[in-house]
Amino acid sequence: MIKYILKCEHKHEFESWFSDSKEFEKLKKDNLVECIFCQSRKVEKSIMSPNVVGKEKVLEKNFDNKDIKKIKKDLLKIRKFVEKNFEFVGDKFPREVREIYYDNKKNKNIYGTTTPEERLELEEEGIDLARIPWVDNKEN
Ligand SMILES: [Zn+2]
Repeated sequence: MIKYILKCEHKHEFESWFSDSKEFEKLKKDNLVECIFCQSRKVEKSIMSPNVVGKEKVLEKNFDNKDIKKIKKDLLKIRKFVEKNFEFVGDKFPREVREIYYDNKKNKNIYGTTTPEERLELEEEGIDLARIPWVDNKEN
């Protein structure tokens, strides 16, 4: 199936599904493609259509299983790196991170947890945090 965004002579745009591009060409030649708004048969593929179809393809591709596994593997690498090089401070993270941010003498790498509210407060203070999806190795 292929989705086209079609446009009639009066610039009405609408989506329509065809089994393939040949079907569209055939229906169009036989004058069977009509505008759903004004029934005009002067309908063309809109320039928009390749973009929309392309985007959907990219989305599907991004979320196929192989890619998720790869992303997970990368995230696990990041997690291991963080665990090795950063000090875990748990829910004291907002306090600790402020100490580091406002006290130039302190310089250490920490990681921990925040509530969404705490995170927002830190952002408002100009403290930019990196947020890493924390993945488990369990499901592999
Ligand atoms: Zn129309």
